[in-house]
Amino acid sequence: MKKIIVTGGSGFIGSNLVNFLIKKKYFVVNIDNLTYASNKYDNKIRNRKNYKFFKLDINNKIKLIKIIKKIKPKAIFNLAAETHVDRSIDNPKIFIQTNINGTFNLLECLKLLKRKKIDTKLIHISTDEVYGDIANGSRSGELDKYEPSSPYSASKAAADHLVKSFVRTYKLNAVISNCCNNYGPYQFPEKLIPKMILNVFNNKELPVYAKGKNSREWIHVNDHCEALLKLYLKGKPGESYNVGSGNNLKNIDLVKKILGICKEIKFNVGKKVKIKFVKDRPGHDFRYALNSKKIRNRIKWKPKMKFNTGLKKTIEWYLMNKSFIKQFSKKKYEKRLGLIK
Ligand code: NAD
Repeated sequence: MKKIIVTGGSGFIGSNLVNFLIKKKYFVVNIDNLTYASNKYDNKIRNRKNYKFFKLDINNKIKLIKIIKKIKPKAIFNLAAETHVDRSIDNPKIFIQTNINGTFNLLECLKLLKRKKIDTKLIHISTDEVYGDIANGSRSGELDKYEPSSPYSASKAAADHLVKSFVRTYKLNAVISNCCNNYGPYQFPEKLIPKMILNVFNNKELPVYAKGKNSREWIHVNDHCEALLKLYLKGKPGESYNVGSGNNLKNIDLVKKILGICKEIKFNVGKKVKIKFVKDRPGHDFRYALNSKKIRNRIKWKPKMKFNTGLKKTIEWYLMNKSFIKQFSKKKYEKRLGLIK
């Protein structure tokens, strides 16, 4: 069995990726320090023979090197990160530590493995937010300038630059995926889709920033996992690949869609469930949209999940898995963050 390390394998995308790789018969080692956003719920996978978990902060370079040297993985998928833009406005420091310094530590590990003639490929997971916002009608390409707007996206951009510089200077084997917004099971409810779903379930108002006209491109997390595996198998070292669905939606339309689906599946929507426009996020990017022709043409990947189907499945998953939400303290996801006083 090929050994693969997933950092951040207890987070939203990480949980889905770990399940996906286990099913594909890889031996998966998850390195995660279990922050507030991590999922301790899916214990089923933890009993599998081809899964191992280390509770570790990727900032702990000494322990990280020790584990990675012992495992000698074929690939490392780096998903360990601080990911919430609003939190990065309140407390950017931890974003710098984990997203930049943590990535640097992984690159140092790769350097050590290369010296020992062990060829490990790094698949570094990044975001469309590094390009900053883009005008209606345009889409960001891989060669476009990075123009991050938030401390979160700036930390991701810095990490991407580090990865590329290490490939060029030390000839490491690493690729970068820049993906649009993911949705699906196991997402911490501070993020837009699970937050709205929960508020509908709990008969609460649906807070939408500004007038909800900001536009995001949405991809089902399974499609992202498929793309990541393909990038491990076929991605060219030093290259970035945009991973997009082409499906853009204004936030307000997305929230209306969630409401519509809840009614369609005969969920009893309470009287307090109403859209409420709230103060905008400082520096809020207006629109992200990716041109993802490169991965489609060169790697032969394309997304499979239709948005309406995926969104309905996601709502049903949250309805069926209420204990996933119960593991989190409400204090961690209900309070409005990222407002500069
Ligand atoms: P998440 O916040 O749900 O999970 C992050 C995971 O990383 C958590 O399990 C957390 O415990 C772990 N972690 C955080 N700091 C760590 C540290 N110092 N050491 C070890 N583990 C640590 O995030 P996500 O949404 O699953 O995102 C995963 C990656 O994908 C991130 O790099 C993010 O930037 C990128 N990304 C996410 C999206 C999206 O829509 N969610 C889109 C594009 C790219």
